[in-house]
Amino acid sequence: MKKTNYDIIIVGASNAGGMAAASAAENGAKVLVIDKMKSAGYLYRDTIASIHSKAQQKKNVDIDRNELVNFLSTFAQGNVDERLLYTWVDHSSEAVDWLDDQVLQPHGAYMQSTSDAHYETERNHAFPTGNEVTAADGAYWEMGYGNWVIEKDEQLGVEFRWQTKLEHLVVKDGRVVGAVVRDTKTNQQTTISANKGVILCTGGYGTNQALMQKWNPVGLKTNMYSDGQRDDGSGLVAALEVGAAKDEEPASIVFNRAAVPVGTNAKDFYEIDMTPPDDPGYLWLGSYPMLKVNLNGQRFFNESAPYQFQMNAASKQPGYLSAMIWTEATMTDKFLKQYHTLGCSRLNFPGIFTGDEARSEVQDRLKEGLVQKADTIEELAAKLNLPVKNLENSVQQYNANVKAGKDTDFGKEASRLEPVDQAPYYGAIVGGRLLATLDGLRVTTKMEVVNTADDVIPGLYAAGNCSGGFFWGSYPDHVPGLTASHALTFGRLAGQYAAE
Ligand SMILES: Cc1cc2nc3c(=O)[nH]c(=O)nc-3n(C[C@H](O)[C@H](O)[C@H](O)COP(=O)(O)OP(=O)(O)OC[C@H]3O[C@@H](n4cnc5c(N)ncnc54)[C@H](O)[C@@H]3O)c2cc1C
Repeated sequence: MKKTNYDIIIVGASNAGGMAAASAAENGAKVLVIDKMKSAGYLYRDTIASIHSKAQQKKNVDIDRNELVNFLSTFAQGNVDERLLYTWVDHSSEAVDWLDDQVLQPHGAYMQSTSDAHYETERNHAFPTGNEVTAADGAYWEMGYGNWVIEKDEQLGVEFRWQTKLEHLVVKDGRVVGAVVRDTKTNQQTTISANKGVILCTGGYGTNQALMQKWNPVGLKTNMYSDGQRDDGSGLVAALEVGAAKDEEPASIVFNRAAVPVGTNAKDFYEIDMTPPDDPGYLWLGSYPMLKVNLNGQRFFNESAPYQFQMNAASKQPGYLSAMIWTEATMTDKFLKQYHTLGCSRLNFPGIFTGDEARSEVQDRLKEGLVQKADTIEELAAKLNLPVKNLENSVQQYNANVKAGKDTDFGKEASRLEPVDQAPYYGAIVGGRLLATLDGLRVTTKMEVVNTADDVIPGLYAAGNCSGGFFWGSYPDHVPGLTASHALTFGRLAGQYAAE
């Protein structure tokens, strides 16, 4: 007979949930974590933002908190709760240091600050916020350290119940006192009570096309793949049932790395990526500011910008997609390094992918027909179904700018201008990969969920991507690691406050 009474139920065992569980248990609470899937370890991400973590102090990385918050708020055109942004800057290093001290170092791993990730143009202001989870041998990628977080939670006395899905919240006298859950193996429904409350850490709604249509219809058209395959919005829906308020406008984190077949109709194409291990259509180089044109073969924006700006700009162009054009020569290590991109798109800097891996991915996509290769621009245009004359003119004009060392058309920095004048030429039709939706439940700085009158719903907390007020519109990827950190930091705080 399973126990049905806890102090705190945490729904979701990923970044926010794992951290909430640890801090609630450290503060003396009897904690149950439920998750609808069988595991969650791989969802913990390697690039985590903070200011003034121990790893950052070691490298003398100093970030001004007011400057960072002002940047984030300006990026969102003020459509955020600045109190939440300050709560994040003031607590982000606690989450990163806790992971470093309590989870990574006991396994020989450690946090490393990516101090060079700084870049400054009006369009491309970046902050060196990233801490990279690093293995003992210096390797960065696919650490799976999330399983260590879950192990740590268990050592702290937290119970986990997998394949158990939240269906509804239980409210008594205006207070959330438990959850109605379903065991997805037996289909049995149970009610579990929580004396101190329920913390929702259920992520976003990107795989739920009906919710996307309702809350982010443009995202449904401009994104080709949804990479957050669990994000069905069920936690959000359960909270809305009990009167919670939600952000009224969409926010999302999107990669411009989705190669699709020539002729794709963006309005109809929306594939749920079952990562790992599928990763359909991944084109890592898509996040490089190489020449990009619309489906009429015309250049239409400055490619040197946060990832998501490409899809935003393309959403004002016919067909919502763009074509990326590059050459064998622009895939060399020399050029890739010169671009100096940030966060996880970095190649040839310490960590993440190497140029060889990126080139081999291009060859894979070529075999699948998602990348085209040609000896002339005319042939490439035909393969990409772009008007030949327009593409030829665009390439010619672009090369003239490169030669002059000045992009008089769209103002791209000289260091990110590369010639497109040497065969073989490559091209791909690209759109967005939705990593996660970021509009969520309105919360206080104590992670308490509020109702539409802005009153706290007692006993209900939310953290991570199911919570809102923090992002608006596009994700500021030039603050590397911000979504993971938002989830980890606010998860940690939610656990502390719920256990009080
Ligand atoms: C490929 C990829 C790479 C990324 N890389 C980075 C990065 O390097 N840095 C960064 O900052 N961000 C990155 N992100 C984004 C980051 O992964 C998310 O922002 C983060 O996972 C959010 O954590 P979360 O805990 O809020 O939600 P999630 O990670 O989405 O977890 C939600 C959990 O809740 C469970 N759940 C949902 N509904 C229910 C229910 N009804 N009942 C029970 N359980 C439920 C789910 O099974 C899931 O385990 C990346 C995303 C992707 C897809």
